[in-house]
Amino acid sequence: MHELIIIGAGPAGLSAAIYAQRFKINTLIISEDTGGTANTAHKVDNYPGLSGLSGFELLMKFKEHAEMLGAKIIIDSVKKIEKINDSFRITTKDKEYESKSIIIATGTKRKKLNVKGEEEFFGKGVSYCAVCDGFFFKGKDVCIIGNDTHAVQAGIVLSPLAKKVYMINDKKEYNSEPVFIETLNKMNNIEIIKNMNVKEIFGENKVKGIQLSDDNKIECEGVFIEIGSVPGKALISDLNIDCDEQGHIKVNEKMETNIKGVFAAGDITTGSMRWYQIVTAASEGALCVKSAFSYIKEK
Ligand SMILES: Cc1cc2nc3c(=O)[nH]c(=O)nc-3n(C[C@H](O)[C@H](O)[C@H](O)COP(=O)(O)OP(=O)(O)OC[C@H]3O[C@@H](n4cnc5c(N)ncnc54)[C@H](O)[C@@H]3O)c2cc1C
Repeated sequence: MHELIIIGAGPAGLSAAIYAQRFKINTLIISEDTGGTANTAHKVDNYPGLSGLSGFELLMKFKEHAEMLGAKIIIDSVKKIEKINDSFRITTKDKEYESKSIIIATGTKRKKLNVKGEEEFFGKGVSYCAVCDGFFFKGKDVCIIGNDTHAVQAGIVLSPLAKKVYMINDKKEYNSEPVFIETLNKMNNIEIIKNMNVKEIFGENKVKGIQLSDDNKIECEGVFIEIGSVPGKALISDLNIDCDEQGHIKVNEKMETNIKGVFAAGDITTGSMRWYQIVTAASEGALCVKSAFSYIKEK
């Protein structure tokens, strides 16, 4: 029986892991990977004190810090969380764990565009991660679909690699930080197509292009779908945790959920004014541990 199990080892989970070690809570971290979504950030220039690192480099520093303090991270996928009397049973692919309290820090999953060809050509030209897959499109024409920071950052990453980058935005403007938009506007192989939707991704064995809502076609070899993320609901369905309409776990200022002993941090919550950043995720992870410590002590 652990005192605390942290599910997820992105910024929120790893920050919680660091604080849990300092609070001397008997803790286990279970996660599908270390680093989480932040690993896909090309360059993180807004984490205080550590500018200029890639997301992966920054999160490896989080991991090293947690492990240096003694944190134990198990790489596994949690399939189920159940409340058994006053504790929790956490089931992974092939093991069961028990804990007095839990922190859910499982982040979000990439949103699907839901157009014809998206599923068929996934991995054959369709990608949800410019940082991870951009290299495969060196010297080729690519399209980026989206209207916020995800799309703008993908443009910044892909422009130096690709021959030409078409950016399809269903709005008039990008909803992103001005500093990113300024950088994007300086790139000379980008064509932005505004107020436009995508009807279809077409090809033969691999992507050959997209068809727009005005029926025009753009030929390209890569299609990057950068339309944001949604929280995964399956994992928490047995717990009856209160969520908002998008599936973000409702938390109070102590990062408590409606279930006693269950805390949540990071992109999966409604906390921090829904400002989904590494620094806010890390802050929520720290707050969770403070609350979990009080909860464990009380019990
Ligand atoms: C392209 C891109 C660029 C970005 N750039 C920046 C930036 O420059 N600055 C900034 O501050 N933020 C940036 N962000 C946002 C930032 O990455 C997120 O806000 C942050 O990663 C959220 O942290 P998290 O710990 O809540 O979730 P995640 O980082 O998503 O971590 C979730 C963790 O949970 C694990 N997990 C999920 N499901 C399970 C399961 N069932 N069982 C076990 N483990 C599970 C995952 O493996 C992962 O380790 C960027 C995001 C993207 C996509």
